[in-house]
Order: sequence, then structure tokens, then C-alpha cells
Amino acid sequence: MSDLLATLNPSQRRAVEHFCGPLLVVAGAGSGKTRALTFRIANLIRQHRVDPENILAVTFTNKAAREMKERVELLYAQQLAELHHNKPFTALPEFEQKKLRSQVYKQVTKHLWIGTFHSLCCRILRFDINKYQDEKGRTWQRNFTIFDDSDVQTLIKKIVTQQLNLDDKKFNPRNIRYQISNAKNLGLSPNDYMRSEGGGYKAKIVAEVYEAYQNSLAANNALDFDDLILIPVRLFQQNESILGYWHSQFHHILVDEYQDTNRIQYDLIRMLSTNNETNRAAWTWKNRSLFAVGDADQSIYSFRMADYTILLEFQENFGDGLPDEDTRTMVKLEENYRSRENILKAANALIEQNSQRIDKVLKATRGAGEEIYCHKADNENDEARFVLGQMQGLRRHNPELDWGDFAILYRTNAQSRPFEDLLIRNNIPYQVVGGFKFYDRKEIKDALAYLKAIANPADSVSLMRVINTPKRGIGKTTVDRLNHAAQELGCPLWEILNDETSVATIGGRAAKKINQFASLIREMQEKINDMRGADILDHVMEHSGYIDTLKMQGTEEADNRVENISELYNAMLQFADENEDASLGGFLENASLASDLDNLDDEAQQVSLMTLHSAKGLEFPVVFLVGLEQGLFPHQRSISDPVALEEERRLCYVGVTRAQEQLFLSYTRERYMWGYREPAVASQFLAELPKDLVVTNVRSLQKEAPSQEPKKPSISQRQRSTKRRERQTARAQILQQKWEVGDRVNHNTFGEGEVTHIFGDGKKVNLAILFPNLGKKIIDPRVAPMEKI
Ligand code: ATP
Ligand code: MG
Repeated sequence: MSDLLATLNPSQRRAVEHFCGPLLVVAGAGSGKTRALTFRIANLIRQHRVDPENILAVTFTNKAAREMKERVELLYAQQLAELHHNKPFTALPEFEQKKLRSQVYKQVTKHLWIGTFHSLCCRILRFDINKYQDEKGRTWQRNFTIFDDSDVQTLIKKIVTQQLNLDDKKFNPRNIRYQISNAKNLGLSPNDYMRSEGGGYKAKIVAEVYEAYQNSLAANNALDFDDLILIPVRLFQQNESILGYWHSQFHHILVDEYQDTNRIQYDLIRMLSTNNETNRAAWTWKNRSLFAVGDADQSIYSFRMADYTILLEFQENFGDGLPDEDTRTMVKLEENYRSRENILKAANALIEQNSQRIDKVLKATRGAGEEIYCHKADNENDEARFVLGQMQGLRRHNPELDWGDFAILYRTNAQSRPFEDLLIRNNIPYQVVGGFKFYDRKEIKDALAYLKAIANPADSVSLMRVINTPKRGIGKTTVDRLNHAAQELGCPLWEILNDETSVATIGGRAAKKINQFASLIREMQEKINDMRGADILDHVMEHSGYIDTLKMQGTEEADNRVENISELYNAMLQFADENEDASLGGFLENASLASDLDNLDDEAQQVSLMTLHSAKGLEFPVVFLVGLEQGLFPHQRSISDPVALEEERRLCYVGVTRAQEQLFLSYTRERYMWGYREPAVASQFLAELPKDLVVTNVRSLQKEAPSQEPKKPSISQRQRSTKRRERQTARAQILQQKWEVGDRVNHNTFGEGEVTHIFGDGKKVNLAILFPNLGKKIIDPRVAPMEKI
């Protein structure tokens, strides 16, 4: 461990060696905050003998979490190599290295709680969510599903247009979803929200949608991303003993990127650290610590309610409250190890233009490096050509540079297209980080919906997605009828699908198909604990006809989809390997939490393209910061709002400070925007960079398969159905009577039961009947062998 500390500067060392009590590490970009946090975890375990399962570390992305685990693992394995083999780790044969790492994994890293707020909270909820009840008495089970953005959007749209019959042009579902999400991030219930908004008509509607949305989530035994954090906080407020349990579980809490924490996340950290004890004198830091690292100048997520004043208030909230100079609960890091001096000077000059900040020093430790080059391009295609030309030139002159050493950063997702086109044409490997995610592809969402429906039968949204995918002759009207029945009875859709009598009653011609579908799902549900997740996927994709349908299409796109599904199979096997957890539930949770940055693959040598928001915490030898135009960056929305403009400037600061060796900036003379060629003006941020550091060129300047046609009935079928109709009419005459809730019946097969619900009227009446021990069944009284008693 002493070797380990030797690679740190004195301030980093102070941070890493800190044992108990609160400590805030504030520092500019690239000063080793993340590194200090990682080393501290290793130090806690090695030096202070802290049990890994008592450490909770919050990172900003799942990728960062994985990286951190790996770093701790390596640090540890290195120590063991010295101790047991008297040799550096790298000098050991490969099998010994593997053995050591596996030993460290089993003893240490496996037990650490490292992850994003979302993944950590999800883990907590898998233990305790069944003990939670919200203000309206709604409850959830431990096998809950996590709804992603598109699931949520579908649900909200359905509530707005179908349930509340509102005009979605007037009440934009996307906007309402945004309001609900913000309310959740502030910890507000629908009622709280309405009050906080002054109770106007619009607020009332949003609150109403919010309420209906919560009902739907609970009915589906599902949570959205915001709930993952909000519910633990509420649960801890409700139940002292549960909070007590987790408080005593996590002795040491570490948070990276603390400047982008929002109020509800702060509440969570506060409660876990202090056991929600308001009397500060009663706090005990014996064997406990709270360690937060951050940089207020890199706070860029205010649109997700992140609030950097939380970082500024750390001293007041947890520390000794003394001024910065005197406090012992804060460490400042002042050396930047990442960027060349020119890049750093430019970054410092830029961020100094912001008024809302705490001044801090950020000194370069590396030589001046090349000048920053700023290019004015004719248009976006020319801009892409410039970037490509520079990359090719740099690689020619510096053979050690690889495609993986380049990053192209932009303000908005859509800007990637011209770069992608050119990279593809030139056969250069690249990845769009946070762009089109694997888990967003249709076939993957379909496959996951099958798996979710198996793991959590109450998840009607997933069931609905696959009930007729691939097309199996269960039409929209039938699905609507099934859904309507479930809604009327207040039971999950699955309960209806899983009951052959109900299906026979309302499934019409599709009844047989519905039964086949239900039996496939049921069969897998029964095997969920015995079969590997990957094999469940394999089975369900084959037996549902999904793969066959794709194969029959015979197009390249369909083949790609089949390949993607087999990639999902691989992912499940890999997950089982890495997590010693082959269960379906484990995998699904992981897939739902796969963050934007998860498709960033360090090993692959490819150019990285991403938005500035996705670039936080990362570093690259060569960075191209493109599209520096007024209206694009800073974004149009922010130009006239001084607070928003400062956030855009912080975003620019994040971009500039990603570069290690060289930074290129570019903007265009005109750009194709909103369908027109628009003249472009250089970003004001360019003018804010010191002239002497920047050189410019300015002087030179598928269609879905058709649904199955209902087949014409054959003659014998026609005869049979005529007979059946005659029989039905006869029975209908016999049973032409009024039905009321509470009526009792005697059924030939099911015995006595009670009518609990009546669907439709006149000839079309169906009854929901509760039979003791058999549950509810939906029955058509005209055909059922039963009598009213
Ligand atoms: P950001 O604000 O962008 O998140 P950070 O403060 O978390 O940055 P790190 O990513 O931890 O910074 O470190 C930046 C780079 O500097 C990394 O490559 C890291 O390995 C290197 N580094 C940090 N501390 C030292 C040190 N004492 N000696 C040498 N290199 C260091
Ligand atoms: Mg960092």
C-alpha cells in the first residue's frame, strides 16, 4: 500500500488516507479526484481492514463503476503478487495473474457496493420494496420491472389520450412526463406537485396524469428510473428500522461527481450517513465516513434537477462549517495531470467568465504542448472532412496514435451524422457513445419484453408488447377486450390470459392462440429457477415463432435482427459468467440499467463520437470539439438566460478538459438546420479563449408482415358454427335474464360462484364470476353450462 500512496501528491494522499468523518474533495478537471476515490477504497480495505461489503461507492455511470472495481482489483492483485510471489504482478505467468484476480474478486470486489445511484438503489429495493407503501397505499413486489424511457412514454401517452381523454396537442405527453420526472426528483407526490405549482388548471391535469401513472406502474409491478431513488428515500422516511439496517450496512460512503447530485439523491446520502438524525450532536462518525468528490465547474445536468449548491453546502451539511481556509473537512487538489498546459490555460480562461463559481487553482503538471487549432469550415461536411484529415495526418506523423485515441465531441446528438458518413466511407472504426443503444433496438426490446413478462407476470406493458409479436392472429380488438376486462376487474392482464375459461369467453376466434401464448409464458415461469436466463431466451424465441418469422423474411435487416438476438444470448451468458448469477432477474435488472455510456468499449480501437454530456469524467489524447456556433453551442435556448448560459460554458469547460495532448475546435460558415441552410456565427466561447493560445485558419479561410387474414371457414366448419349458434340462441333465450353483481350461479364444472362484475349489456353480456379456490373467471352466460341460483 505504501507503494500505492507514493504515486499520489500530498493532497491526494490526504484524501486517500482519510479514514473517518466527512470529507469533501473539490478540484478542477483532471486533478485526480476519481483516482483518489478509487485509491481510497483500496486503502480502506488494506489499511483499515474495512469489510468490502460495508463500502458504498456511487459513480456517475455503470462503466465508471466497472472500471473502479477493476482498478481496485488490480491494485489488490499487485499487492498479493508482491506478498506471495515476491514479484511484480506483470512478471507472473498469465495463469497466476488470472488466479490472483479471481481470488481478489471473490474476497474483495464482489462484495463492494459500487454502482450508479440507480443500480445501487435497485439492489436495495430488491431486498425491501415489499415493505413500502406509498401515500395512496400502492405496493410493489420484489420482482418489479424497470420501465425505460420508451415504456414510460407509451404509458403516459395512453393515460393522456385514452384514460383521461385529453387532447395530446394541448397536453403534450412528453412535456407532462418531464414535469412528473422533475416532481419525482424533488420528492413531490402528485398532491405536493399541484400545491407547489399553485394549483392551476395545468398543474391539476399534470397531477391527475401523475396519479394515474402511479396506479399503472403499481398495477404493472413496475418502477421508472426516478422511482428507483425516490422509493428508497420514502421507505427510509417511513420505516426507521429499515433505514437503520442500511445505515449500519454502509460504514463508508463515497460519491463521485457530487456536483451533479440532485435533492433526492442528496437526501438518500444524508439518510444513509446520518440515520436521518437531525441533531448533529448525535451523529457518530466512529468507523464511518462520507467522502464526496466533485467540481462545481463541471455541473452540467441541471435539466435533470442536478444542483451544484449541494456540493457548495457540504461543509454546512456535514462538515465543520468553518471557512474554506480553516476547515479540516475539505481537501483541494490543485494539480492537473491530464492536459497539456495550453489546453488547461484555455479551459481556465473560459470558466473564469462564469460568475457563479468558487475560485480555484488548477496548475499544469505537463509541458505546454501544441497550440490549440481552431478551424472555420464551409459547412458541416467540410467540418467532418477537416476532422478526418487531421486524424489521418496525426496518425501518419505519430505511429503510436490509434483510432481509439480520438474523440469527436458535439452539443447535440444529430451532429454525429456527417462524421459517421465520412468515417464509414473511409473504413475507419468508430463508435457513437450514448447514441443508438443496443437495448433500444426493436428486436432486443421484444426479446426483453418476453423475459420481463416471464419474470414478472404482472407486467402488462411487456405482455402487451409481445402478445401478438410475432403476428399470431391475436388482433387489436381482442387485445383491447382482454385489456378492458383486466381494467374493469382491476386485475393484471396475465390473470385473464392465464385462465382458459376467461380466454374462451372473450378471446373469440383468437382464444386458441392466446392459450398457446399463455402456456409458453407459463411453462417458462415454472422453469425460471431451474433454467439459465440465456436458455429461457433461447426457448422462448424459438417456440414463440419469433426467430422463424425473421428468418422467413430473408432480408438483410431481418438477418441482422437475428444476429442481435444471438448477441443478447451471448450477453446473458457473459453476465452469468461475470456475476455468478445466471438468473433471469439478475440479467434483466442489469439490462434495464445499462446506461448510455455502456457501449463505450475501451479495448476496441475506434474513434469515439459523443455529446459533451456523455464525455464527463473521460479523457482522450486528441479531442475535436466541433460545431462551436452561436445557437448550437451555446444552445439557442440558453443564449438569453444568463444562468443557462453559464451551464453551457461549464459544458464547454468539460469538453476542453477532456483533451490530454491536443485540442481542435471547429465551426462552420453555414449549416443545414431545420431543413434550411442557415448562416452560422462563431460561438461566443471562442472569443473567450486567450488569443495567444489559439491558432486559426480564419484568414484563409420495414414494413411489418401483413396481419394474418382470417381464413374463410370450410363447409363443415360453417355447419358446426351454425349448429353452435343455434345452441347459443336456445341458451340465450333460456338465460335471457337480468344479471346483477352479487347473483349466485351454479356451474357444471366450477361449482358455485358469485357474479362480481358485468361486462356489456343485452345480448353481449359477459360475467366475471368468483369461484372459491378457482379465482375469477370471465364467462359468457349464453354458452356456459350454468344456472342462476
Ligand atoms: P474529472 O474532473 O474530469 O472527472 P478527475 O479529477 O476525476 O477528472 P482523474 O480522471 O482521476 O481526474 O485523473 C485524470 C488523469 O490524471 C488520469 O489519467 C489519472 O490517472 C492521472 N493522475 C491523477 N493523479 C495523478 C498523479 N498523482 N500522478 C500521475 N497521474 C495522475
Ligand atoms: Mg473524475
